Amino acid sequence: MNRILICDPLDPSGLEILTQSGAEVHQLTAEERPRLVEIVGEFDAMVVRSATQVTAEILHAGKRLRVVGRAGIGVDNVDVAAATELGVLVVNAPTANLVSATEHTMALMLVLLRRVAAADGALKSGDWNRKAYLGSELMAKTLGVVGFGRIGRAVADRARVFGMEILAYDPFLEPSFARDLGVELLSLDELLPRCDVVTLHTPLTADTRGLLSADRIAQMKPGSYLVNCARGGIVNEEALLAALESGQIAGAAMDVFAQEPPTDFSLIRHPRVVATPHIGAQTREAQQRVSTQTAKMLLAALGGSMAVTAVNLPFRSAESGGEPLMHLAEGLSRLGSALQGGRLQQLSVEMEGITEGLRPAVRIAALKGALSTSLGEGVNYVNAQQVAEERGVRLQQTAKSSCDNYPQLVRVKLSGSAGQTEVAGTLFGDDPRVVAIDGFLLESRLKNCLLVVRNQDIPGVVGKVGTLLGEADVNIAEIHLARRPNETDALAVLRLDQHPSPQVLAGLEELPEVRWLKVVEMGGG
Ligand code: NAD
Repeated sequence: MNRILICDPLDPSGLEILTQSGAEVHQLTAEERPRLVEIVGEFDAMVVRSATQVTAEILHAGKRLRVVGRAGIGVDNVDVAAATELGVLVVNAPTANLVSATEHTMALMLVLLRRVAAADGALKSGDWNRKAYLGSELMAKTLGVVGFGRIGRAVADRARVFGMEILAYDPFLEPSFARDLGVELLSLDELLPRCDVVTLHTPLTADTRGLLSADRIAQMKPGSYLVNCARGGIVNEEALLAALESGQIAGAAMDVFAQEPPTDFSLIRHPRVVATPHIGAQTREAQQRVSTQTAKMLLAALGGSMAVTAVNLPFRSAESGGEPLMHLAEGLSRLGSALQGGRLQQLSVEMEGITEGLRPAVRIAALKGALSTSLGEGVNYVNAQQVAEERGVRLQQTAKSSCDNYPQLVRVKLSGSAGQTEVAGTLFGDDPRVVAIDGFLLESRLKNCLLVVRNQDIPGVVGKVGTLLGEADVNIAEIHLARRPNETDALAVLRLDQHPSPQVLAGLEELPEVRWLKVVEMGGG
């Protein structure tokens, strides 16, 4: 019989599913919590929300442990690398809050345009003033949806019923797919000046951090509205406050903030701002759905099914050597897709010296890496193939049993709206390294923050780049330079200890010798 340990409060609906399965379900008591590491060894599975930290120590102590259920999406509190190493599957419930987040976006939009929160506050303090709360209708207004994924599309469906015209910006979506959904896909430059309301639905990635910058906000139609129910950090909050004060933006509604809980309340207190404390998923239904989906996934995983929303694969690297290769493939694709930008249409994965049994996992890891630039946590090993199909991305694979220059090599070729990029890498021990980028041969670790610079191959460039980084207190951990025969350009890869600020990057881009540069957050620092 399976023994399941519930570590954080879970809606009863999921508990019932677990109990009815015949499993023995134990709720961790307050007295037991400090002894979790001693207790966990008796259980086959554990369920957590965000409070319990599933550390490597706990996972190692869980000798019988096969599955960790995270009732929610983010897995910041689970040491996924240690779980993967030990062959413990981590399952989650990524779509359980779709409807709640969508409806909260609609609620914010209506409250914002009809000034409901301000009118309610005034009336409660005894002020009956109808003239002060002149609002606007949604009907016949243009809504700009930035990030046309699951929630963006669901918001668009509802907004259409209100009579709104929908425009969308999503550089990772096939235009034909958008056309089938009856929406006009535009660039952000084209969309912002045309919209009465802009609503954000992207994940927080290196590309979307600060996406709504001061310059972008200035492009928005004068007197328009902004809604952010996605992630804090996508909007430059200082610039938004300035735009509200100048009247450029008529109002903003925010459920999420760069810092949560916030310490600076100046934006939140602005009279034209409606703010909620990240409650997009706080509904009974979403909590129930999270609970039941997690319980079902957990039982399926315990039953040996792979058709589960897992954030990792049940791999025992000690047995198969698969996990470092998966990290390599995922890292190479992430780097390639960040360098390439634009919409991915085809991913080719070439494997040399990799045994047949490991190839499917390496291929899926490469696909996950390529899609995660645009989808963040929305893509995992289990759904990567399906997500690729939905988004019209073709996947190709070739394999050779041996490799000429290295024991093993993975090469990913990404083709898309922005052209083609080719990145290859290998393992040094278990450590993934990139060894070629578009024919430039080099050797850099695939971790931390990588700054890739394409520059004129003349003396002094590296010095200038290093000076600008040094002045901004950004430390260079490694630097690799490469050139291709008979070319006047060179490529530099710098591994940095800190992520350079947008100002530093702008300064680097202004160097006359720099053709282009990209910063890619690889993680694992
Ligand atoms: P999703 O993965 O289905 O869709 C995200 C979309 O954003 C994708 O279509 C992707 O192509 C697009 N995208 C990625 N980078 C982009 C860029 N630079 N510019 C424009 N588009 C880009 O995700 P989802 O389930 O729809 O979730 C959307 C957001 O809502 C996420 O940030 C998620 O964390 C957030 N969310 C918030 C709450 C809340 O409580 N407020 C609840 C649920 C989800």
